[in-house]
Amino acid sequence: MDSPALKKSKDDAKYLPNKIATKENAARVDASPPVLQLLEAVHTAIKPAKGDCIVYWMRMEDMRIRDNRALAHASAQAQKDGVPLLVLFVLSPQDYAAHDRGARRVDFTLRILENIKTELAKLDIPLYTTSRSPRTKIPSFIHDLLLQWNASHIFGNIEYEVDELRRDLSLCQIAKKHGKVACLFGHDKCILPPGDVRTKDGRGYTVYSPFLRSWAPLLEKANAHHLDELPLPTANNPSVRQHPVFANLFKTEVPREVKGFSLGPEERERISTFWHAEEDAAHEMLRRFLSTAARTTQFGAVDPLTAGAQDVDPTKKSRLAKYGDARDRMDADTTSRLSPYLSAGVISARACVREALKASGKKKLDVCRDTGVGRWIQELAWRDFYTHIVALFPRVSMGRPFQEKYAGVRWETNAAHLQAWKDGRTGVPVVDAAMRQANTMGWMHNRARMIAAMYLVKDLMIDWRLGEQYFMEVLIDGDLASNNGGWQWSASTGVDPAPYFRIFNPYTQSLKTDPGGEYIRHFVPELAKVRGAEVHNPPPALADKLGYPRPLVDHKEARNRAIRRYKNIGED
Ligand SMILES: Cc1cc2nc3c(=O)[nH]c(=O)nc-3n(C[C@H](O)[C@H](O)[C@H](O)COP(=O)(O)OP(=O)(O)OC[C@H]3O[C@@H](n4cnc5c(N)ncnc54)[C@H](O)[C@@H]3O)c2cc1C
Repeated sequence: MDSPALKKSKDDAKYLPNKIATKENAARVDASPPVLQLLEAVHTAIKPAKGDCIVYWMRMEDMRIRDNRALAHASAQAQKDGVPLLVLFVLSPQDYAAHDRGARRVDFTLRILENIKTELAKLDIPLYTTSRSPRTKIPSFIHDLLLQWNASHIFGNIEYEVDELRRDLSLCQIAKKHGKVACLFGHDKCILPPGDVRTKDGRGYTVYSPFLRSWAPLLEKANAHHLDELPLPTANNPSVRQHPVFANLFKTEVPREVKGFSLGPEERERISTFWHAEEDAAHEMLRRFLSTAARTTQFGAVDPLTAGAQDVDPTKKSRLAKYGDARDRMDADTTSRLSPYLSAGVISARACVREALKASGKKKLDVCRDTGVGRWIQELAWRDFYTHIVALFPRVSMGRPFQEKYAGVRWETNAAHLQAWKDGRTGVPVVDAAMRQANTMGWMHNRARMIAAMYLVKDLMIDWRLGEQYFMEVLIDGDLASNNGGWQWSASTGVDPAPYFRIFNPYTQSLKTDPGGEYIRHFVPELAKVRGAEVHNPPPALADKLGYPRPLVDHKEARNRAIRRYKNIGED
């Protein structure tokens, strides 16, 4: 079953990762994380004279009007100075290509922007959307725009990936040199900002449990401050619509598509029914998660807001209340499905914690493993944890394993296996259902992601970075920190990973998480009529009859190979 020792062929070069920093470069960036440089630049920003407007720069991860820190600060500054507030969004196709953003995520961004434009216009605030290439020129382009508008301040919520931090830093440097505009970037993505949760000797945590043990009391102590809802932006004076320069901004349209990232009309329509793009929809999804019961009709490729959700006692029977026990079940809507909205920032993570505590009648923060609400807040803390890791250990966003000792694990370069995994044709039903869920909906249940990721890395022994890349391309909730965290967990190379010898048996996982096989039958039509346990592992004759592939590898043999290769780094 093992492939013979392979040299890097032309074919491999097409799909082998080409964005891996050297060990030395990664170490250099880790030693002086760009986020700290950016915070320093903000700290030493100039104190500008009053200008003609204030600008809030919205990006792909903070796309909301409610409870948005940078937007609230920008609005307060505009009120203080008695000038209009303008909102800017810069589309950057080169960044999308460099970061493996898929058409679904880009289209979602445009649909959200369209709604935001309408909502802001009700407050007489214009949203100016423009597209820029090359990406390296974005800082100087924005600075020129700020001078043209005679803006005194630009506000933004920090994005923690290396390229984005360097872009913001570059804008700060240009602005400082010219001395006209203050660039104020601050934290908003996480519930507690990266850098606030530190070990006794001042370093970032690299293991989740102690991180959580520090995170929870810090949040509890600063509860009011960190969980408070930020005010909505104040409306501009309607006279802004007559302003000689700003009036035109109301007329600029949000583009329907970004070249190279378009969805066909049918796909756009289909994806829009699974993923509504309004802030209100995200809040309604949260409300349903907190106060209605799970439905077996709702786990698949369906509109999450269809009628029929039954209000129940939120402290006992809601999806939240049952989350502790039910969250790994893939055959009902046991989880919130809010990740696309959290990744795009359509809803704030604070709002999720705030509302979850309220719905479950808790006055104090709950992060217990054995309550639904505690367990759910723990998941939101995982999101914080992985974002803190990207900010404080930027090597992980440079294609490096967190644990450098695993950099030399020997991977298979089997293009056919990789493609079969992507297509959901590995012959392992739960893996195929998971991948087809991703391909159909642009989203996967967490357990499905873990099973599919572990299978690619440990059973097919294919480089985790190729899986990470594919998930970014296909998932609508693609988020570098959580995606990288999940992949490096599965590949045993990350912070607090699954030990390399703990390898999921996909068949056992399937029985546990989809005992009746409904999830498999929904996403793998070839198996739709198979009843009983065979749906989890169809016998070869049945698989052949149904036109379903036989397994690509034998799990037991593959498991032994993986353990051997992790134990003996670099060897076959
Ligand atoms: C290989 C792999 C890749 C992943 N890629 C992404 C990704 O690109 N984007 C993404 O948002 N999540 C990713 N996750 C994390 C997790 O699978 C999803 O956040 C979750 O499935 C979303 O479903 P939900 O909104 O119903 O979650 P719920 O169970 O309702 O949880 C609520 C929220 O908590 C956060 N969360 C939950 N689990 C995790 C986790 N393990 N790590 C980090 N945050 C978590 C998410 O923001 C989620 O929306 C990945 C996990 C794995 C194993």
